[in-house]
Amino acid sequence: MRAYVDQDTCIGCGLCAATCPEVFQLNAEGKAEAIADTTDENRSGVQEAIDNCPVSAIREEE
Ligand code: SF4
Repeated sequence: MRAYVDQDTCIGCGLCAATCPEVFQLNAEGKAEAIADTTDENRSGVQEAIDNCPVSAIREEE
């Protein structure tokens, strides 16, 4: 699994990067992006980021 951030939807609040910095970071445009695959170790953090994103910009795909 890997998380993807919809660049048009993300408002760059930084919550996902604060919640799960091993997967999410803000890019040069000030939008979040996933920098790593979802693993057993970070799965709960990824899910928390998905659940708490204020604009539901994060999705996960196989
Ligand atoms: S929590 Fe959502 S809106 Fe905020 S930076 Fe992450 S993807 Fe963007």
